[in-house]
Amino acid sequence: MRATLIHGPRDIRVADVPDPVIHKPSDAIVRVLASCVCGSDLHPYRGTVGETTEPRRIGHEFVGLVEDVGDEVSTVRRGQFVIAPFAVSDGTCANCVNGITTSCLQGASWGGEDADGFMVDGGQGEFVRVPWADGTLVATTEVPDDSLIAGLLTLSDVMCTGHHAAISAGVGKGKTVVVVGDGAVGLSAVLASHRLGAERVVVMSRHASRQAVASDFGATDIVAERGEEGVAAIKELFDGIGADCVLECVGTAESMRQAIDSTRPGGRVGYVGVPVGSEIPIRKLFGNNIAVGGGVAPARSYIEELLGDVLEGSIEPGKVFDSVMPLEQAPAAYKAMDERTAIKVLLRP
Ligand SMILES: [Zn+2]
Repeated sequence: MRATLIHGPRDIRVADVPDPVIHKPSDAIVRVLASCVCGSDLHPYRGTVGETTEPRRIGHEFVGLVEDVGDEVSTVRRGQFVIAPFAVSDGTCANCVNGITTSCLQGASWGGEDADGFMVDGGQGEFVRVPWADGTLVATTEVPDDSLIAGLLTLSDVMCTGHHAAISAGVGKGKTVVVVGDGAVGLSAVLASHRLGAERVVVMSRHASRQAVASDFGATDIVAERGEEGVAAIKELFDGIGADCVLECVGTAESMRQAIDSTRPGGRVGYVGVPVGSEIPIRKLFGNNIAVGGGVAPARSYIEELLGDVLEGSIEPGKVFDSVMPLEQAPAAYKAMDERTAIKVLLRP
């Protein structure tokens, strides 16, 4: 089969690799219908996080059809459409039972190794062996219409991650919200906040195409300024004190500072951007009773809650994809995301 490998910074290749096989009775094999490039894939692509010492599989968001299942798999069957969250989880350990599936005691990462040392395929390929298929995959009752695939694919990561930011920041009916970041996660956080009943949702964005998606997703205001000017603009919108809930969806020192300084005393920050150099100024939080919560989103725990809204079309998170390419063009997809000429690229094998 064909699959995407990263060989080093800015070196993405699509190559022939062995077809996956069932290693354990709890495995499934999924034929990928759609996958995509994530903002966090850009860290190894740019060489900013971790070092790629040898070629390895990449991609952690995919949806597809179940091709085969091991003898112990009971919740998904051949031919079903499934959504794979961005991390493997058994669904049964103490952390999974608590809903923190990303800390699964037998968990694994796509493109890494499972608890038994077997390689786990990356999502940007034609087929994927899925460990702990019962715990990891969410199946739909029917194979959905092709027009829903993009939206369902966002449940692998960005929509669940945006939702996690909103939940972590305490977004609910009547709340005022600021979203820091206009990537696919930030835009999904706007949609999640709107869905949860926020009264006002401000997105911090300088890009017309991203502002348009944010408005479509329910953003009521746009602030283009950054830094101190950005904080001043936010405070002006909210009684001179800041917003109830601020969703940090980038992960840099600058974006975390922006988020904390935009939060009103007594408010909450929900952070989901992979931290790259960001710090928490605890004295500032102490002085203003600002709570900071969040972390890597336990996407598996949110998929079922969000699935119905996507299937019935009441939310259309698939609009974060502004580009679709064949899998063979994965190198161009990474380039487009890196250069921010695309918000998010969907790859079709
Ligand atoms: Zn677990």
